[in-house]
Amino acid sequence: MKRVLVTGGAGFIGSHLCQRLLEEGNEVICLDNYFTGSKSNILHLMDNPYFELVRHDITHPYFAEVDEIYNMACPASPVHYQYNPIKTIKTSVMGAINMLGLAKRVKARILQASTSEVYGDPTVHPQPESYWGNVNPIGLRSCYDEGKRCAETLFMDYHNSNKVDIKIIRIFNTYGPNMNPDDGRVVSNFIVQALQGKDITIYGDGMQTRSFQYVDDLIEGTVRMMNSPADFIGPVNIGNPHEFTMLELAENIIDLIGSSSQLVHLPLPKDDPKQRRPDISLAKEKLGDWEPRIQLREGLSKTINYFEKVLKKQVHNTI
Ligand code: NAD
Ligand code: UDP
Repeated sequence: MKRVLVTGGAGFIGSHLCQRLLEEGNEVICLDNYFTGSKSNILHLMDNPYFELVRHDITHPYFAEVDEIYNMACPASPVHYQYNPIKTIKTSVMGAINMLGLAKRVKARILQASTSEVYGDPTVHPQPESYWGNVNPIGLRSCYDEGKRCAETLFMDYHNSNKVDIKIIRIFNTYGPNMNPDDGRVVSNFIVQALQGKDITIYGDGMQTRSFQYVDDLIEGTVRMMNSPADFIGPVNIGNPHEFTMLELAENIIDLIGSSSQLVHLPLPKDDPKQRRPDISLAKEKLGDWEPRIQLREGLSKTINYFEKVLKKQVHNTI
């Protein structure tokens, strides 16, 4: 049995990861400051004697004897990471330093949840890991993008200078159950709007693209990366290469829900990337033929079921 630390474990992705690691017979310490995560995401794990929940902010050091660390803590939605940009960059940079220091001290393997945002508004399409990106260092998104880029640098430097056993994954847009209804990202926004019969908010002309990955596929790729041979440190893209425009995403969601919602166009946020699609050949080669299994409409249906339940509960609670 391994003891595994998951930072950001009460968040959307972290909660799925905690569940998976417990199912595999590990002991899990879930660490979170509840900025965007919530106890409701991990309530069902609380009865498990091998699950431990710690309220902690990773900008401060944390010590525990662990074998592995998944560093997932960081707000991921532009709305939330721009709310307090200084805190966001501190979470990425000081959080990485604190967690790498812990990994060095206890000789744990550590995996960093990096992001496709390190490619910025990419001029190379699709994006391979060898692409260095096109990031505005002083823009609205830079607290997140540059924070994650600096975290990658720190991981490489701790590896090269101190032989810390590291892994870096670059996660592309991921969606699924346990997203917060107020998260602000496109999939949760469109589903909640469509379920409530409200207008669907398309930013800009809706022709910008993203490639959406269902959370189960991400968790599979992430765990495989953690368990891969020590000489493969990444970075490796983990994403679904099927690319859609935001208009196509909205049409699919309206169709699956049978919603009467109308599309409205709002201004495109500054520095919003125009296109994004992962090149996943490296993940396929190095992670046992890993590739996403769940296609968009199937994943959206599961996510819609989840939000239906969450919204019903919210209505119930206000009566
Ligand atoms: P999320 O916002 O749902 O989860 C982040 C979790 O980290 C939350 O529980 C939050 O409370 C916690 N957290 C934030 N700051 C913290 C701090 N200083 N100390 C302790 N806990 C803190 O987001 P998510 O989608 O689950 O993302 C998880 C990770 O994956 C993030 O690092 C994110 O950058 C990365 N990622 C996600 C996506 C995606 O599409 N979901 C894409 C690329 C990268
Ligand atoms: N978007 C949108 N309507 C929304 C939320 C987002 O059209 O209500 C667009 C956004 O401008 C971006 C895309 O959807 O082009 C993905 O946005 P998200 O915030 O989910 O993720 P990111 O931009 O970080 O990939």
